[in-house]
Amino acid sequence: MAFVNENYLKLAAGYLFPEIERRVSSYASAHPDRAPRIIRCGIGDVTEPLPSAAITAMHRAVDELAKRETFKGYGPGTGYEFVRKAIADSEFRERGIAIDDEEIFLSDGSKGDCGSILEILAFGADAGNRIAITDPVYPVYVDSNVMFGNTGAPRGDGSYDGLVYLPCTPENGFVAEVPSQPVDLIYLCFPNNPTGAMIDRARLNAWVEYALKHRAIILYDCAYDAYIRDPSLPRSIYEIEGAKECAIEFHSFSKSGGFTGVRCGFTVLPKALNAYTRAGTKVSLHGLWSRRWNTRSNGVSYPIQVAAAALHNADGKAQIRQLVDFYMGNAAILRQGCRNVGLRVWGGEHAPYVWVATPERMKSWDLFDLMLTEANVVITPGAGFGRCGEGFFRISAFNSRPNVEEVVRRIGQLSFATAGAAGA
Ligand code: PLP
Repeated sequence: MAFVNENYLKLAAGYLFPEIERRVSSYASAHPDRAPRIIRCGIGDVTEPLPSAAITAMHRAVDELAKRETFKGYGPGTGYEFVRKAIADSEFRERGIAIDDEEIFLSDGSKGDCGSILEILAFGADAGNRIAITDPVYPVYVDSNVMFGNTGAPRGDGSYDGLVYLPCTPENGFVAEVPSQPVDLIYLCFPNNPTGAMIDRARLNAWVEYALKHRAIILYDCAYDAYIRDPSLPRSIYEIEGAKECAIEFHSFSKSGGFTGVRCGFTVLPKALNAYTRAGTKVSLHGLWSRRWNTRSNGVSYPIQVAAAALHNADGKAQIRQLVDFYMGNAAILRQGCRNVGLRVWGGEHAPYVWVATPERMKSWDLFDLMLTEANVVITPGAGFGRCGEGFFRISAFNSRPNVEEVVRRIGQLSFATAGAAGA
């Protein structure tokens, strides 16, 4: 008899986006005449084509594979030296942060890494790691911990026993405070998905101090760092002194280089970072993560690695800036459009997400249904990101400009909007 990983049976009914898809498909099949009008501002997927620097590089790499003299088979499991160096130079060393090439681990995107990092940390509900999760949160952190058995039973509201939830609210600017109790692993994400919030240096410093004091590890998700507009804000946790001893950083090229379909990202695991055995012996995690990669993967495909390196040359960087500027232009239009109808708005200044309070304390799934059926616009209900997301919704700025302008026009025609605008 084969036994199943019963942790999977604890997962809440559905990952947020399948549930959104189910409601959208059911509306579209009941109203085929309205289906073509539907505009999706829900899932955070990019809409614009790849930067030409990446395209040219991919073509060149494919041509290399076509010739015996330049053909490539298996490469290093954690990425070719040329791409690790390009990343370490351009994302860190050129900004004064000392990261070695060997501290960069290339992957097929950061979604997987945010979960698989748990393979080298003690897991199972009895293993002892107390795990802190911000609320609302990118659901992948929670679900990965459920799969690894790091939580207890699900509660009725989508949360799990055994996790420490850190509320993010308008009062704290959607930036979690350091907890009063000790925790061992902390997931932080800035710029934040879903709230679009950004942390400043002083508050990030408080987190690093906390982690060093408690010998905890911060799992720092930087998927949207390219969207930070204010140079005084930290683009990497390693800008904070001491972070190399307490933080692992996850990066993605999905939202910077438009690689959601190409699939590439990287994790920074500094050599100075340690965790402990139950007997109290210090173990360097860098060696374990290398071991894990070389056992469990043969790495990212060669043409994609060449394209990822090209994102870091002068053309690639300029094209990323253009792409990001375009999406941030969308975010500004969405922010203003929501404000114009009297809605309270956060985010969208250093992130491609605009976070909006529902009108008159409406439940966020009710607002989702209203936007879908009355405006034919798909947003993401805040409750899908956690208990503290109730009463909010997220609009993604990843869309064409005409679609964004149309979304704002339709929001302006909703009944709450006309009432809100009159009262604002
Ligand atoms: N982290 C956050 C916060 C995200 O929002 C996303 C994607 O939406 C990812 C990670 C995953 O990125 P990737 O496409 O590199 O797997």
